Amino acid sequence: MFGYLYIKSCFHCLCFLFFCFIVHPGVFLSGQALAGQDKLQVIVSIAPQKYFLERIGGDLVQTTVLLPAGASPHTFEPRPSQVRELGSADIYMTIGVEYEKALLPRIESLHSDLEIAPVDHGIEKIAMTKSCAHDHNHGHNHGQDRRHNHGHNQDHKHHHHHEHEYNGLDPHVWLAPDTAMLIAENIFQSLAGARPDKENYFRDNYLEFIEELKSLDQEIKTIFRDVAPESRFMVFHPAWGYFARAYGLVQVPVEVEGREPKPADLKELIDTAVAEDIRIVFVSPQFSKRSAETIAKAINGQTAVIDPLAEEWDKNLIAVAQKIAQAAGSSQ
Ligand SMILES: [Zn+2]
Repeated sequence: MFGYLYIKSCFHCLCFLFFCFIVHPGVFLSGQALAGQDKLQVIVSIAPQKYFLERIGGDLVQTTVLLPAGASPHTFEPRPSQVRELGSADIYMTIGVEYEKALLPRIESLHSDLEIAPVDHGIEKIAMTKSCAHDHNHGHNHGQDRRHNHGHNQDHKHHHHHEHEYNGLDPHVWLAPDTAMLIAENIFQSLAGARPDKENYFRDNYLEFIEELKSLDQEIKTIFRDVAPESRFMVFHPAWGYFARAYGLVQVPVEVEGREPKPADLKELIDTAVAEDIRIVFVSPQFSKRSAETIAKAINGQTAVIDPLAEEWDKNLIAVAQKIAQAAGSSQ
């Protein structure tokens, strides 16, 4: 009787062990056995990064974009619940957009083990393009400056030194093929570091993507073939600094230090548009169209939309090039 019970419970134990080791080997084996099944969970700041991740990470990566569609990366603030959920990801690939500045310390305190990979690493950032209105008639009330540390000491001309006021480098590094190549390399390095067993797969995708970026660059150069060098295009939010640099263009921002222009600024922008024979004022879906519309009306022109955050990154860049080339053509 007792012997029977003893044997029975032992049988249960054996069943349990059998279940653990044979039926569910994954419970005890390392991540390597699971590599084919579960995807690397990557968080990114903006939608264009998802495009890059999918090109390089292929089927092995699941990407989540933190910034909701239509929101601006300059002002977005993730909810506490969103920040809490980030803990389940493997990597957060930052790109240097404004909202990361406040978010990163929150991540650091909640998820100190979440790997942060800055994919803008190694990109030499250019100065944020400033409004021409700002250069000429901005009030010199430096008492309000957040930072006012001039590198030079005596009697400088304020008219030509406003860099310290905007306090910023241009974060829009994803909007040109040349800077995208560096982003791609950083993504490849990060993925290969997280999954060394899949390094060759990521490298093949990365190299293929670089070839695609080279032909995209050629295609955009062709679009601008007949556009005069240094052609100006007016845009509400100056997100296209790297793009303008890559194709020899000059962007004229409507925004003054991230804000709507004041009436005096608007007047100056209208004068600039008339002097430069600008007929199109570009706007982005994430920003106000009001002052762009005011300028367009005053110059008898139009507004047109170009999106710095489209997820279909390559097609979008071509569409933007065509619109800017067309706008430059219409002013010649
Ligand atoms: Zn921006």
